[in-house]
Amino acid sequence: MSSSVKTVVRAYQNYVNGQWVKSSSGEMFPVYDPSTEEVIAQVASANAADVDQAVKAARSAFDSGPWPQTSAAERGRLLYKLAEKIRQNAAHLAEIECRNTGKPIVEAEYDIADVATCYEYYAGLANKVLGHVNPVPANALSFTLREPVGVAGQIIPWNYPLLMAAWKLAPALAAGCTCVLKPAEQTPLTALEIAPWFEEAGFPPGVVNIVNGMGEIAGAALVAHPGVDKIAFTGSAAVGKVIVKSAADTLKRVTLELGGKSPNIFFEGADWEAAVDGALFGVFINQGEVCSAGSRILVEKKIYSKFVESMTEKAKRIKLGAPMERETKMGPLVSKEQYDRVSSYLEIGKKEAKVAIGGGRPKQFGKGYYVEPTIFYDVENSARIAREEIFGPVASVIPFDGEGEAIRIANDTPYGLAAAVWTRDIFKAFRVVKALRVGIVWVNHMQPTYVEAPWGGYKQSGFGRELGPWGLEEYFETKQVFVNLDETPIGWY
Ligand code: NAP
Ligand code: MG
Repeated sequence: MSSSVKTVVRAYQNYVNGQWVKSSSGEMFPVYDPSTEEVIAQVASANAADVDQAVKAARSAFDSGPWPQTSAAERGRLLYKLAEKIRQNAAHLAEIECRNTGKPIVEAEYDIADVATCYEYYAGLANKVLGHVNPVPANALSFTLREPVGVAGQIIPWNYPLLMAAWKLAPALAAGCTCVLKPAEQTPLTALEIAPWFEEAGFPPGVVNIVNGMGEIAGAALVAHPGVDKIAFTGSAAVGKVIVKSAADTLKRVTLELGGKSPNIFFEGADWEAAVDGALFGVFINQGEVCSAGSRILVEKKIYSKFVESMTEKAKRIKLGAPMERETKMGPLVSKEQYDRVSSYLEIGKKEAKVAIGGGRPKQFGKGYYVEPTIFYDVENSARIAREEIFGPVASVIPFDGEGEAIRIANDTPYGLAAAVWTRDIFKAFRVVKALRVGIVWVNHMQPTYVEAPWGGYKQSGFGRELGPWGLEEYFETKQVFVNLDETPIGWY
């Protein structure tokens, strides 16, 4: 394994106003390679004073300076330049992402390509935003201006670090906002790696700022800060609720993407091989650390036993290994904390249901936060492993009898991010699509995600949408302008 980060434990500071800035406390925190449990970087830990400094930089870049004068077309050109630099350095970034998250290198490469695509998409969209002329009476003119919402505070998780940063930064910058990004404490490295590239591409200092550190300190300070106009958050529902409460004090705009317990529904007659593959891919990709993971696998009773058997057989072939090896299909979980959390659900699951495969730590690894791909079956939808987001390679298979019951079980969850349905019956497919209370539905697939299409949830999976024009929309305010064309006085008094 050749890597610059392998041999050197790098130190990263916060990135504020185009400069690396130490945290005022001088505190640093360690960042790990979860496959070796070794420290690979030390990162500055921001406190409220550091966050304040970053917000002031973003505020000043938004309120004055060159950024508010930059045309939409120019913002697009800067985003294209950034995307180009990311493409040129894709291998380097993929390696850092792989080492920091533990995800297989091949998946990390897809992620980095998606990062560049996301910046390119919003680069192209930046100057296609139009206002409206409103059909008011003839003696007036009314139109709307689309104006950037202001300073965006953006808080992201560790499962797709640079991609989640792109989903937040790209639309915000296209809209003309300025940003303070708080990466997850476990995985700040790729965002920090590209931090100076924004100025290199031509973004003025202060437009993109990155503060590292703990959610309860740095994240909370960002949410509470009166200089921040909007918070965009991806993470757990528990933290989402804390954020909404805190943001209420300053009535910030808030968008939330909070994950779920997504049903992956299989009817008799679905293409067998594709379905079995889709059930495994839906829940085990990225070690199951996916907000839209198809972690509840609903299978029609007529095919249930054989389906569980086929899934189990195929799951035996999932290659766990070192993340940098190209054949690896599953790496370790991101952290000790996540390993402990998932392991505790494995114990809960063993009491609640039957184990088809997995259920513990794979024996071949002396080190690293590896967990076996695990399939529980005969799971009741009321079980904790069917209701709570585990965020690891753990599937709960639930039998159902007929379309009505499938829909009832699928919707019986506080979440509503995503779902998938597998059938060759087109009538049934679309009836189920319409009945599901979720923001994303796949038919005969699960997980493909494109920047052109909206992403976000119903119910407790959050609110607001990312990606596509919907994602850009969230970074605008609408100003209505009324022009009186009638020179006679109002004559009211
Ligand atoms: P999390 O605690 O919700 O973290 C997400 C982000 O929010 C991180 O940057 C985190 O900082 C920050 N944060 C934490 N507390 C905060 C607060 N009080 N105010 C502002 N920001 C705060 O998620 P996690 O700890 O990484 O993972 C725990 C569980 O969340 C997982 O097991 C999974 O169920 C769920 N999760 C969901 C998603 C998703 O995409 N929907 C992604 C990741 C995790 P720190 O890095 O310091 O925690
Ligand atoms: Mg956390």
